[in-house]
Amino acid sequence: MSGAKLDDYISLAGREVVEEIRDLGEKLRGCSILHINSTAVGGGVAEILCSLVPLMQEAGLAASWVVLEGSPDFFHVTKQFHNGMHGRPVQVTGGMLESYRAAALKNRHLLKKDADLVVLHDQQPLGLAAFREGGAGRWLWYCHVDPQRAVPQVWEVLAPLIAACDAAVFHLPEYARDLPVLQYFMPPAIDPLSEKNREVSPAEYKSVLEKLGVDPGGPPVILQVSRFDRLKDPAGVIQAFKLVRKNRKCRLILAGGGADDDPEGTTVLEEVRALAEGDPDIAIMPLPPAAGLEINVLQRRADVIVQKSLREGFGLTATEALWKGKPLVATPTGGLAQQVIDGITGLAARSVEEAAAQMERLLADPGLSRRLGEAGKEHVRRRFILPVYLRNWLRLLVLLHGRH
Ligand code: UDP
Repeated sequence: MSGAKLDDYISLAGREVVEEIRDLGEKLRGCSILHINSTAVGGGVAEILCSLVPLMQEAGLAASWVVLEGSPDFFHVTKQFHNGMHGRPVQVTGGMLESYRAAALKNRHLLKKDADLVVLHDQQPLGLAAFREGGAGRWLWYCHVDPQRAVPQVWEVLAPLIAACDAAVFHLPEYARDLPVLQYFMPPAIDPLSEKNREVSPAEYKSVLEKLGVDPGGPPVILQVSRFDRLKDPAGVIQAFKLVRKNRKCRLILAGGGADDDPEGTTVLEEVRALAEGDPDIAIMPLPPAAGLEINVLQRRADVIVQKSLREGFGLTATEALWKGKPLVATPTGGLAQQVIDGITGLAARSVEEAAAQMERLLADPGLSRRLGEAGKEHVRRRFILPVYLRNWLRLLVLLHGRH
């Protein structure tokens, strides 16, 4: 959360966007909206809600955010669902369904009967839809992943729960599914004024790098920031880096922490550590949850940023990189394809070899890096910053509530 006010965004988003937010907020005054997700820190959803909810409040809505409680067993189940949504084969057992349902039952008290809108973020709180009671409020399921390759075993569990809502929101139109409810499309956004994205003073820059043990000068740095998750392909990043290093001196930083709702993080971190062991040019940097400024500074230090995800709902880490005017190499999958327009706002890479070639191209051509970075930043400013996102949200709410 940046603590910033709507007016603070005028210089970034333009006056018209902020004025439209105020007008829409007036129409929606007092409308209560309850967001439910499964972690307060770590990952894109928590990141978005931290910034979005206070601004919704400032716009006039009675917005609140609660986090459901789950056992390790429940988060193991929902991580399997997450992987299944991304197309990984998953065996869904009766025990898993029982655990999923039991967690929803236990968290039922989080629901507010009089909320005008309940938003269930991702599959973890979706089980609550089974306990929906009558009432005038609308329910929305907000899917933050790319569901195009969802395996039937998982989709068949989730689909009836989605059908119990009034509408579903996806990041992109190509994520539309065959569902009996209305579907809306809205990409997420970064908060340009948060600790993670705000401008950094030279003194802060220097002291954070010192704390992290990163050389402010020296060989160029290639960076990926992500949770330690196989779908972010940290192993592929290391392979690509090793190819680049054959031809030029450079360093790799893989930075990231876990999320409370991701039980696989520790195992993947150990796997990545093993791959990097003994290599003095690779730094594996686990970060605590509140490391916004550290991530900000690392992204500003990097010469090339990579997001080599195998699947990606949207990829806010890519948005953050572009916002810092950095040249980005990304897999053109899901939301990353919206962000990296190959050769214009970044470079696309579909394999380890392509990623290595694109990184080398950028390291060899500072002019290209600068042009891509500038275009990337402008691309984000127009489409993927918080005020634009809030305006899109309010437009949707006006539509749902018929308040014109
Ligand atoms: N993030 C973080 N610390 C970490 C790893 C990630 O704060 O150690 C943040 C990251 O900066 C970004 C968000 O979590 O804002 C990740 O969102 P993204 O859409 O890239 O991926 P997700 O983790 O939701 O799959």
